[in-house]
Amino acid sequence: MEQFTSQQIKDMKILASFVRVYCKAKHASVDPVSVELPEALAASFRKGLSLCPNCAGMIAYALERRRKCPLDPKPSCKHCRIHCYSKEYRAKIKEIMGFSGRRMIFRGRLDYLWHYFF
Ligand SMILES: [Zn+2]
Repeated sequence: MEQFTSQQIKDMKILASFVRVYCKAKHASVDPVSVELPEALAASFRKGLSLCPNCAGMIAYALERRRKCPLDPKPSCKHCRIHCYSKEYRAKIKEIMGFSGRRMIFRGRLDYLWHYFF
């Protein structure tokens, strides 16, 4: 089994939660596909993670980038010198984090430090 640092696991959980909120709100009419999650995340997503195909592609990309981030501790993406996201994905994840971040704050979920990412 692949080993992750606790920070990686935390970040991946946040990513997955944010994409899920976004997809549920925006793409409820699209047939979802089941996303394959790293084993470390399975406990947090007991029922699995279902997203529309686009968002499923997004989260797979985001998890992969986080997995491969060579910086430890990872800086916030805004202050990163690498910028590992391609332009297209970067714009998309920014939109997702902004949208879901506002929703979670609205719901009082301030435990999610969404600004950590963007
Ligand atoms: Zn979606």
